Amino acid sequence: MTTELSDQSYPEIRDAVRRLCGNFPGEYWQALDRTRTYPTEFVTALTESGFLSVLIPEEYGGSGLGLTAAAAVLEEIHRSGCNGGACHAQMYTMGTILKHGSLEQKQLYLPQIAKGDLRLQAFGVTEPTSGTDTTRISTFARREGDHYVVSGQKIWTSRAEHSDLMVLLVRTEKREDAARPSKGISVLLVDMRDAVGNGLTIRPIRTMLNHGTTELFFDELRVPVENLIGTEGEGFKYILDGMNAERVLIASECIGDGRFFVDRATAYAKDRVVFDRAIGQNQGVQFPIARAYIEIEAAAGMVDKAAQLFDSELPCGSEANMAKMLASEASWKAADVCVQTHGGFGFAEEYDIERKFRETRLYQVAPISTNLILSHVATHVLDLPKSF
Ligand SMILES: Cc1cc2nc3c(=O)[nH]c(=O)nc-3n(C[C@H](O)[C@H](O)[C@H](O)COP(=O)(O)OP(=O)(O)OC[C@H]3O[C@@H](n4cnc5c(N)ncnc54)[C@H](O)[C@@H]3O)c2cc1C
Repeated sequence: MTTELSDQSYPEIRDAVRRLCGNFPGEYWQALDRTRTYPTEFVTALTESGFLSVLIPEEYGGSGLGLTAAAAVLEEIHRSGCNGGACHAQMYTMGTILKHGSLEQKQLYLPQIAKGDLRLQAFGVTEPTSGTDTTRISTFARREGDHYVVSGQKIWTSRAEHSDLMVLLVRTEKREDAARPSKGISVLLVDMRDAVGNGLTIRPIRTMLNHGTTELFFDELRVPVENLIGTEGEGFKYILDGMNAERVLIASECIGDGRFFVDRATAYAKDRVVFDRAIGQNQGVQFPIARAYIEIEAAAGMVDKAAQLFDSELPCGSEANMAKMLASEASWKAADVCVQTHGGFGFAEEYDIERKFRETRLYQVAPISTNLILSHVATHVLDLPKSF
């Protein structure tokens, strides 16, 4: 027997999350998946249990715990066969207000977010033409008196239809006029309740998984100046900070997915008898499962390291990226092994494996694709010449 790293951190939280997830079995997710419906009951249960506010300091009504605790919550959700994608951003998007907002903004928003009265789980960065090259976003906010007037387009803004507020990345100065490409970018907090129909249109995008993602169209949307977070023009560095938290937490979801696949594959391989023996007795079946287990454990070590660095307020950009890459690749390989182990049943909806297979594939593309992580490590860690 080995001790999984996860067994050592926050056992009470893990137990409580597992019990909660027990009320949301495969049939619940299968029904939602068919109609691409938002898991409202699951998100409500998580909100009421306080698990979505673990990162909010106690003075604002949260539990005041660190990223390692948040990672434990999301890992267990995913290991249980559930999916945190519908609400994980409610945990970390508020970090932009917490770290860079004014005292008034923190006092106004954080207690309501902690209670779940306000949902801040939409984060609009990606645009159709700029892709991963964030400094080339063109959604523009021009100042007019005590408002910004926003025009442009975002794509893949997940949960926009299920969020009261959105953290929106805009240009307040054209790229060609800015001192550096990363300057002249600002962060606005958009109140979606006022915005929809008054300059903001949301169009859902149907994808291979049930993720509630959308396209946003801004046509002269007016946002009060007091909704600017931090200093105008400095927004790029604010979001980089939040992205580290996001990458570590997504990586912890991948670890949960990976363990789900290994648990399921192992159980099935012991149980399924073909040619008068359990299929798991064949090394051709057991070795891939063992390899998947090893790769997930290795990735979990990096996720833990990145989370601990983040919680110690030490630089963790490279570790967050490496954790996300290793964990997303390990979960994807485990998914493939799990399907293979199940033979035909791997494709049957009622086993949940094909659903989790589709869900875990996302994380090699979003929130950052593998190539961009490799490029970061090549140029920022190894000091190799930049290719772009
Ligand atoms: C379901 C879903 C939900 C999402 N949710 C959100 C959200 O809530 N908010 C948000 O802002 N965004 C969101 N995204 C967007 C996501 O972060 C991007 O899709 C992702 O960062 C990749 O960007 P892109 O799609 O523009 O790909 P591109 O930048 O167009 O890249 C396409 C491919 O080319 C590769 N590539 C590009 N340039 C290079 C290079 N120089 N060298 C090597 N390879 C390169 C990339 O690695 C990638 O594989 C979501 C995406 C999906 C699919």
